[in-house]
Amino acid sequence: MNETETRLQATYDTLHAMPEVGFAEHLTSAWLAERIGTAGFSVTTGVGGTGVVAVLKGTEPGPVVALRADMDALEHVVNGETVRVHSCGHDSHCSMVLTAAEELAKAGIRRGTLKILFQPAEEKLTGATRMIEAGAIDDVDIILGIHLRPIQEAKTGQATPALYHGSSYIMEATITGQTAHGARPHLGINAIDGAAAAVQAVNAIHINPVIPFTCKVTKLAAGGATLNQIPDKAVMALDLRAQQNDAMKLLLTKAEHAIKAGAATVGASAEVTVTGGVPGAEYHPEIIELAREAIRNVLGETGLLAPVVTPGGEDFHNFAQARPSLKAGYIGLGCNLTPGLHDPAMKFDRSALINGVNILIHMVEKLLK
Ligand SMILES: [Zn+2]
Ligand SMILES: [Zn+2]
Repeated sequence: MNETETRLQATYDTLHAMPEVGFAEHLTSAWLAERIGTAGFSVTTGVGGTGVVAVLKGTEPGPVVALRADMDALEHVVNGETVRVHSCGHDSHCSMVLTAAEELAKAGIRRGTLKILFQPAEEKLTGATRMIEAGAIDDVDIILGIHLRPIQEAKTGQATPALYHGSSYIMEATITGQTAHGARPHLGINAIDGAAAAVQAVNAIHINPVIPFTCKVTKLAAGGATLNQIPDKAVMALDLRAQQNDAMKLLLTKAEHAIKAGAATVGASAEVTVTGGVPGAEYHPEIIELAREAIRNVLGETGLLAPVVTPGGEDFHNFAQARPSLKAGYIGLGCNLTPGLHDPAMKFDRSALINGVNILIHMVEKLLK
């Protein structure tokens, strides 16, 4: 192992030993801030909570290129004990981005600006939004992300130049009717009847079937302790998924209409709110091409996979939605990862990390040298 790889592995060991959950990445962010400061970057901490922004300027004008790494771990119950584990590999993302930043700083940036974003709370799907609100991407032209992939998607020595996460949202609704005595239902409006009609209407939603999507009712609750009373409230929740953002917009509109119209069939009203979610991936063709070239350069033609579509969500895609001029790209790195992400027993081939470092360096050098 050369010096860079030895440092990369030591960085990974350090971060792996301090797993912290979203917005509580205090040790992780302080450690990363110190290291990247030592590498010559100007560092701002406490960005959007526990986020870190580090900036290195070139001598000539040029684009602002950001590398983003998420920092948070997950909580699992193992043998009856709650433990924090880096089971999504975010420690490896920080290790790769930090090492790439250190190498790039050593060589120096000729033009433009290299910006490093260590982002909190990806698993809570709100960390990216908090950094956006704090102004972290106000001047950014190009943003790159990277994530370890399960063995089914990519093996050690392989990488995909574009990982297409889907869009996923949660919608919640309260259906309001009119209570009445069970003997006099004609004086009330049964919220359960309204909710049942809403469920039927939601299940009849269709959008263009060539775009993968699902729309499911995941919660329905109504009625209280008094069983001879007409209930006047029902609450429901929906989990919506679509592989394209335009399709998701349509799905959200149709779902809201279905709930309101369903409730209206019995004279009830519905209040509908989108309470969480993330947009799907939208990458710039230039950046995908650049990623292809970088992967070919580092791993050879056999290491270059086609773009991968994955049903999972990533809050990285809020960056491109918040700043339409932003060109985004996202590498999926093969590393023989088993049995799967978010499994507390997740393990992977650490020798693959240097591939991620070299792919990122190659991309930034093309953009800023
Ligand atoms: Zn995850
Ligand atoms: Zn992750």
